[in-house]
Amino acid sequence: MAGTALRGSIFYFIGSPVELGEASWVYIEDGLLWLEQGRVHAVGEYRDLIKTLDSSVPVRDYRHHLIVPGFIDAHLHYPQLEMIAAWGARLLDWLETYTFPVESQFGDPGYAASISARFADELLRNGTTTAMVFGSVHRQSVEALFIEAQRRSLRLIAGKVMMDRNVPDSLRDDAPQSYRDSRALIERWHGVDRLQYAVTPRFAPTSTAQQLEMAGQLLHEFPGIYMQTHIAETEKEVAWVRKLFPDAANYAAVYQRHGLLGRRSLLAHGIYLDDEERGMLAASGASIVHCPTSNLFLGSGLFSLRQARAYGTGVALGTDVGAGTSFSLLTTMNEAYKVQQLLGEPLDPFDAWYLATLGGAVALDLDAVIGSLQAGKEADFLVLDLEATELLRFRLQHCRDLSEMLFVLMMLGDDRLVQETWVLGSLAWARDDSMDSGGQADG
Ligand SMILES: [Zn+2]
Repeated sequence: MAGTALRGSIFYFIGSPVELGEASWVYIEDGLLWLEQGRVHAVGEYRDLIKTLDSSVPVRDYRHHLIVPGFIDAHLHYPQLEMIAAWGARLLDWLETYTFPVESQFGDPGYAASISARFADELLRNGTTTAMVFGSVHRQSVEALFIEAQRRSLRLIAGKVMMDRNVPDSLRDDAPQSYRDSRALIERWHGVDRLQYAVTPRFAPTSTAQQLEMAGQLLHEFPGIYMQTHIAETEKEVAWVRKLFPDAANYAAVYQRHGLLGRRSLLAHGIYLDDEERGMLAASGASIVHCPTSNLFLGSGLFSLRQARAYGTGVALGTDVGAGTSFSLLTTMNEAYKVQQLLGEPLDPFDAWYLATLGGAVALDLDAVIGSLQAGKEADFLVLDLEATELLRFRLQHCRDLSEMLFVLMMLGDDRLVQETWVLGSLAWARDDSMDSGGQADG
């Protein structure tokens, strides 16, 4: 594969802004990003690096654009694509009314393939280059998704949902079957190209203790695979778990005693955890995925980033599509800011961008390979159009510093900013600028 270089403004993290402050990020106003063999070969000031650039390497000019690492979406559900934006329900009714009927179609491989393709394209269009995704209960649903992700060289962690109670018959597996199906998927897909497997019990209320035990067994038998689930999204759900598992000290303990909490465990929401549970998650190395658009959409509640971090719990961002209302991590940062505002704890723009890039990679235990643009990392990155909308162009002229620029981008930005998405050093998606004729649609 021939090398490529891109000239433009470049921004990425090398550490956590909460821990390192200004030493955590790199911003190069006139930079050069040099790619070789799908990885970042070198990055630096244009005027310095251009002297060492091999003359055979073409330079693409992206001045007046911002090059950033690809976004990391640590929690979403691909079978829910067709029911995103479903009106009027809270979590448990929303599952009954909208989610379960839709997910029951994914036993059909043709259907799963068509939604998978659309879903993978939507990730790229929104600048998401790594995602951690729930399939449906059907093994074929995950097969189909892995095939489409592999085609696009996306980094994808996914798993077949395990659920053997409190769901309609058409969506219920049983513990031994869920073990066998998960195991077959792990053996077929885990570690193939950029694909990895996550053992995926939907959440405690839809699994028997026996199924959770078998999920834990898989994690034990296949070191390096992931675990993804939900925890403490609503108070009603927490009360239900208390009733279903009366001898567990709390919700997190249900997962812990079945061996489901560890460094590669990602638990969505965590709004109604108590201090003991936060400590338990932190001690295990597990991370919480904050999904603000979903939490607001379902009226679930406000997740406190400060409280989670007080116990040292890792945090990533997730869109939680289809309860989440956008695939865009920019929109997700925007809503995360508003959630923290309601808690009186304004989210720093650097922190928000960290969570969507390197912070997500840390939570996924993938920071050695993605999340940043340091030399040697897999070259997943975005070219952002700083003039994507007239308001954005105008507002950016009035920014005093980088912090303000980043904040404006996350508050005014969405998928329209993503001009190009590069995956493993190749252009994977580009906005069709011929469509972009100055907003002359819908009179
Ligand atoms: Zn979810």
